[in-house]
Amino acid sequence: MATTPTIRENFHNVREKIEMAALRASRKPQEIVLIAVSKTHPAGAIREAYDVGLRHFGENRVQEWEGKLSALADLRATWHLIGHLQSNKAARAAKVFHSVDSVDDWSLAQRLDRAQAEKGTGEKLRVLIEVHMGGEETKSGVSEADSPELAERLLAFAHLELAGLMCIPPFRDNPDEVRPFFERLRKLKQQLEARIARPLPTLSMGMSHDFEAAILEGSTEVRIGTAIFGTRPKNP
Ligand SMILES: *Cc1c(COP(=O)(O)O)cnc(C)c1O
Repeated sequence: MATTPTIRENFHNVREKIEMAALRASRKPQEIVLIAVSKTHPAGAIREAYDVGLRHFGENRVQEWEGKLSALADLRATWHLIGHLQSNKAARAAKVFHSVDSVDDWSLAQRLDRAQAEKGTGEKLRVLIEVHMGGEETKSGVSEADSPELAERLLAFAHLELAGLMCIPPFRDNPDEVRPFFERLRKLKQQLEARIARPLPTLSMGMSHDFEAAILEGSTEVRIGTAIFGTRPKNP
């Protein structure tokens, strides 16, 4: 029986695939940030990933991350919330994450802005707008039609930095079939940039099974769990 690949081997594998996809798209591999999605995995696995060179991590639950952060507070990494956030947890999220990649609602943004102001660090909280691309698998995300208004309204918050867009497209066995969704998000970003007259540098799209397709469509941030940490337990 083959031994389970280590986090180091997985990381190098993924990194290599990112580089190949970037080159195929005539893009610079350094433009693409790899977020290791560590949800359900223990703090020890995150430290191991950090030690082999990963610097961005994604979690989908505030409470789970609060429980792991104390064991990892010495790491100089960027912590992203990538899962749906309820407004009533916004203040806690602003305390323990550097970036909320899943903002889909104005009142949530308002609470994040207030919480970030109360931290008093003078730094802005990075946020991405999560856009719902029509798949039935996920309910979260603002509709494509409502995203321009949300983007405009987010610009008014003094303590938030709107960095771009994120999406979770519907699952397809063949990742090439997901490319039209990624293409739509890229075009939506261009439209928003024209409308708000400001660049939005970040397109967060692509997961373990479809990140190469996402890079071909312009992704600047891929969120990869399984291909780095292995399969997640079904009922954590
Ligand atoms: C879990 C998750 C991922 C990672 O999924 P994998 O298929 O394990 O790579 C990426 N993005 C979001 C929003 C997730 O919830």
